[in-house]
Formats: sequence, C-alpha cells, structure tokens
Amino acid sequence: MPTDVTLPYNGLSLDRGRRADAEWLASALTDGRVLGFWQDKCLVGADQRPVSLDVTQREVVFLGADGRGVFAADLSDVDMDTAIGEAHADAAMDIRVLFPGLERQEAATLAYARGMLHWARNQRFCGACGGRTGAEQAGHIRRCQDCGKLHFPRIEPAVIMLVEDPGRRRCLLARHRGAAAGAYSTLAGFVEIGESLEDAVRRELGEEAGVRVDEVAYQASQAWPFPSGLMVGFRAVAATDEIAVDHDELVEARWFTRDEVRTLSDGRRDSIESFLVGTWLAEEQPGAE
Ligand SMILES: [Zn+2]
Repeated sequence: MPTDVTLPYNGLSLDRGRRADAEWLASALTDGRVLGFWQDKCLVGADQRPVSLDVTQREVVFLGADGRGVFAADLSDVDMDTAIGEAHADAAMDIRVLFPGLERQEAATLAYARGMLHWARNQRFCGACGGRTGAEQAGHIRRCQDCGKLHFPRIEPAVIMLVEDPGRRRCLLARHRGAAAGAYSTLAGFVEIGESLEDAVRRELGEEAGVRVDEVAYQASQAWPFPSGLMVGFRAVAATDEIAVDHDELVEARWFTRDEVRTLSDGRRDSIESFLVGTWLAEEQPGAE
C-alpha cells in the first residue's frame, strides 16, 4: 500500500459517484447506513461504534456507496440529549477520541462525514447576498435561493514540516503557546492566498522560528477534515542552525537529536506529524559524528 494511503483518514474507498442519480439515492436511503452527528461529534452506541439512524426526515449528505449507500445527517439543531435520543445512541464523541478503536475505512468515513456536515452547517447562508442556501447533488453543492450562487465544500490547506539542521543530525521541534510542558511538535501553518505550498513552509519557519531553509521537499498529504483541513507534509533542511523564536505563537524552539526525540511522548498518533517524525527517526544518521 502506498505510504500516503496508510496515513489515518486517507484512502477512503467509498464510491463517491451517483450524487446526481436521485432515483438511486432515494432507494439507497431506505436500506442504507445513515451516520448521525451532533456538533461535529459522532453519535455512538454503548460500544462506542457509530449508530445508524432510522430513515429520517432530516436532510442527509450522500457520502458514497460500499455495496449500499452511506449517508450522514446533522442533528446539531437540537440539544445533545435530544440528538442522542433521536439517534438511539448513548453518546456524542469526537472522532479523534474514537480513533484508536476505529478500522481504517471507518475512521476515513467518519472524518469525511464530519467535514461535509460541518461545511453544510456553516454554509446555510450565501456569502454574497446573505440569502438562504439549499442542498443539491446529494448535499455536495449548496445553491443560494436568492441569487443562485453555487457554494462548494471548501478545503483549507496547511503545511507541516520536519526541518533538519544543516548537519542533518537534529530536527526542529517547538513548544506552542498553551501546550503542556514537554509537549514539543513540528511547525505547521495555513497556506495564505498568493502562496505556493513551499512559500508557506519558508514563511512559517521564518516568521515563527527565524529558521531559513533552502531545500523543501514534499513527503505526503493527509485528509484532515477537523474541520476542513488538508495537511501537506514537507521535509526541509535549514541553511544555518540559527533559531530566533517569535514568542507570539511559540514558547520555544530548538534542535533535537533522534535520541532526544525518542524520549518525547507521541501525542498525535493519528496525524501526519507522527509519520514525518517517525520516518526521520527510522533513517540512518548521515555521516559520522
Ligand atoms: Zn446569494
């Protein structure tokens, strides 16, 4: 399996076609699976498995087919207890909390559902004229009822980077404001309008850590619909080992050897950060000390 497919939330195998096939969708809904969400949380049973809602009068988003139709419904318009009752569920839980107990495809499906419902809930009104929007294409487009403008699901790309020092023996990790003592992580940031991905890597490292990099190499990407991200992972090598932290966002940043990184706890097992750091740790250190 290619590396990118092994990253959590990637590799969703649902067939996303048939969004426009209203007749098939109506029939698929009667015997399909309808995942219920409340405020970005998945409605689960006592076994912490997602429940399937009874065929509902609620608006659903078609996620795809895996033999039968898979849909998602947002119950955010009622309070949490009402939503749990309506779904015959026991709790509303965050997907990243459920993640350790989820199979790969289930995690990808739930993340996709969460992202689609979040978008739909936040696109109920048109950004151009303020009119109400309505769902089309099984929930994948929202059309303004007043001006006709079409609204499509949005993805917000972010870059995340593993930076090596010029000798390529250490990597840059930082402690972010508000993070627990000892919680070091790689640097990351949203791509801004007018930037390439590589521009964003260089800017973020310069702004936050005062680190200048030359080579920036793509590693892998990860679906990250929490709520609408796409994480794009890079490896970069610093031009010098100088660090000048901007204390707005970071408390500190410094170079760590592989042995030092191994002593840190890995608190983000479902994220691409774990992959970027893990692949670096697994490499032989180039050259002798
Ligand atoms: Zn409008």
